[in-house]
Order: sequence, then structure tokens, then C-alpha cells
Amino acid sequence: MTALALLGGPPLRTRPFQTWPQFDQAEFDALADVLNSRRWGGIHSGSQGESFETELAAYLQVPHAAVVSSGTAGLMIALRALGIRPGDEVVVPAMTYVATATAVSLLGGVPVFADIDPATHTISGSAVKAAISEKTKAVIAVHLGGHPADMDSLGSVAGTYGLPIIEDCAQSLGSAWKGCQTGSLGTIGVFSFASTKNITAGEGGAVVTHDDELAGRIASLRDHGRPPGDAGDHPQLGWNLRLSEFQSAILRVQLARLKDQLAAKAKGAAYLASELSSVPGLRPVPIPTDLDPRVTAHGRFSLAFTFGSEAFSGEATGGVSVSVFRAALRAEGIPVSLRDLVACPDEPIYADATSRDYSSSRTVSAAQARAACARLVLLGQAAGSGLLFEESEALADVVRAVQKIHKNRHHLRREQSQLGQIRV
Ligand SMILES: *Cc1c(COP(=O)(O)O)cnc(C)c1O
Repeated sequence: MTALALLGGPPLRTRPFQTWPQFDQAEFDALADVLNSRRWGGIHSGSQGESFETELAAYLQVPHAAVVSSGTAGLMIALRALGIRPGDEVVVPAMTYVATATAVSLLGGVPVFADIDPATHTISGSAVKAAISEKTKAVIAVHLGGHPADMDSLGSVAGTYGLPIIEDCAQSLGSAWKGCQTGSLGTIGVFSFASTKNITAGEGGAVVTHDDELAGRIASLRDHGRPPGDAGDHPQLGWNLRLSEFQSAILRVQLARLKDQLAAKAKGAAYLASELSSVPGLRPVPIPTDLDPRVTAHGRFSLAFTFGSEAFSGEATGGVSVSVFRAALRAEGIPVSLRDLVACPDEPIYADATSRDYSSSRTVSAAQARAACARLVLLGQAAGSGLLFEESEALADVVRAVQKIHKNRHHLRREQSQLGQIRV
């Protein structure tokens, strides 16, 4: 039996997988065009920014899209446009990228953490209901990993209490719920175009809405508080959170490529989810056979599994830890995220009262979020990889690597205490 690469054996795969982000000559040409135009900034009529906004709005089937400098900037603009004031409560999932919550905190608001549904890792409607108080002013739903949150139950809870829903679509461009794109379902949708996201210009974001009045406020908030299309007065307090023309030009090319990429990722993800579901210890999230028929498209930002350490132990007590498993997989040549995840309420800014930037928050429920974070294995763009674009021939190496680790689990377990000292 070949030894594990983590324990000095030969790695199962030495050839690299496809990387992320991807580009071709079209991005070079788009950048050169902006450079030559000498119009590198500003979102004027006829600009790259305006064209990208039109194309994104058409793709999402919403009347208004505004480009901004990042997803976090977009969330802050969305909250501000909805009138969130210091002390206001905003319900957010206990498991998400921390920016969902810090956008609330940066405006002086109070994130209220509500637990996720363990089957999908998205915020649960009943948890949101339990989190609502008289101070609640909005709910942020996150389509984590590209899996749409249950917008039916969230919509019904929010409707009952008259609360707006902000959709955090940073990971879900291309995902759809009952035929409607994520971002078009709530009051405001926010996208990120940071390096790992489904289209990227290195940084960037967009804020979309159906509401004409909100759209005006959003465009103004990102542009020094100026009314859209008017360079004169400043009737509103605003930031400069604009996107550069270079970024918008790249995003137009990336958006045009998205459809083909989504199809390729769907194929790769379906293959891996089905092949890996028969390997003991890894459970795909969501479980493919339980895929909700209301999820009509999935952006496949990542391919997520929960890791059952029991299956990697073979004995009743103890097992291989998830971080050692991830390190073993990475050593075999499989790009997997090595980052240890923590539930948002456990981030030092919310958990550690001695932290310089300790921020007020309220945790209603987070047990499922904590359990999921402690066992998460993420493949795909979340790991900075274009793995899901590969054909099944290459993807079979991922399955073989997991099988190899499972076969060698006793060695790994024995060495685990020493491995703790190795930087993985
Ligand atoms: C990436 C991300 C953000 C923040 O986007 P930035 O562009 O990095 O500011 C917010 N929420 C989620 C869920 C994200 O994945």
C-alpha cells in the first residue's frame, strides 16, 4: 500500500488542476481599450461601468444594478439605503463569511446571529423568526456556497414582520430559486467580484434592486452622496465606493463567459458529489438526492462536504481531525481549502470582549453553525481552484485521493499527534 504523501509517500496527483480565476485574450483587449480611452474611472453614460450594470441587470432580470468597489461596500450601501441606524438589529446567519455581519457592525448596527439549516448551510426561516425583536430592521440571507437560501420561508417570515430582505449573493451569481436569479428575490441583492467569486475583477461588487427609489439612493451612496447623473450638490451623506473602468471592463467579459462555466461546473460537481458520497466519512452538502426542486440553478462557488471523523478512525475513540484530513488531501495534490472556519459569533470581534474592535452582537442560535464549521471540507473556487472545470478523468484523482486517505487512516491517526507540530 502506497504511503500517504503527508507521511512522506508519493502524492497521488502531481499534475496541477485548472486554476481560478480564468481569462483569455478578451480580458487583455478589454483592459487595453480602457487604457487607450483615457477614461479610467467614473460611472458615466457610455462607460464600461454603465454597460456592465445594464448587462448584469438583464442577466438577473432586475431593473437596477449599481457597481461598487466590493461586496462588503455593497452590503453597507444596502443597509444604509434601507435606513439602518446605530443600535438597529439585523438578523444574519451564524455561518457565513464574516463580512455579512461586519457590514452591519461598521454602521453601528447589531448583528443578531440565527442558526443555519444543517442540510443546506443556509439560514433557517424558523431561526430568523426566533431572532426577531422590536429592534429588528432587516434580515440578510446568504446563499452560501451558491446554494439558495429557502426564500419561501424567509419571505413569509419577513413579510409577517414587514422586514426587508437583503440577499448576500457574494457566492451565488448564477444560482436561481424557482426560476428567478438570486439577487432578484429580496428587497436588495448584493454581489461580490473578489478573486474567488463566480466572476471576478480581483475586487468589485454590485447592488441590485427592483425598487426605483432605493436604486437612486444606492447610486448616490456610492458616489459621494451625489444624485445619479448630477455632479453638483451633495444632498445625501455618501461614500466613494465606485468601481474603476478597468474592473468593469473585465467583468463584462467574465459575465459573458459565465454561462459556459456554470455548465462545466455543474457537470464536475455532479460527478464529484456522486462519486464521493460512496466514500465513508464525507457527506456532500446539500445531499444531492435531497436537492430541493425549487433550486433551479446552482452557481457552484464551492463543493462542500461535512467530514465524519468517526469513519476515519476505525476505532470507537478518537479519529482523524478535519484539519489533518484536509492537509492529507492537499498533500496528495488535491486543492482543498485549509482554512479553519469559525461560526461568526465566535470571531474575536464578537466573542472576545477584550478585543480592541469588540462589537455588540446578539446570538440567538448557532449550534448547527458551529458543528458545520468544525467539519467543513471545501473544494473548488473557495480553495482558489478551477477543479470543477475538469473532466471526470481528472476528477477521479480526487476520489482516489480520498480513498487512499481512508485506507491509510490508521497510519494518519497514529501520526496525528506529531503532525500537530508540522505547519499544515
Ligand atoms: C466574499 C463575501 C463577502 C464580501 O465580499 P468582498 O467583495 O470580499 O467585500 C460577503 N459575504 C459573503 C458570503 C462572501 O462570500
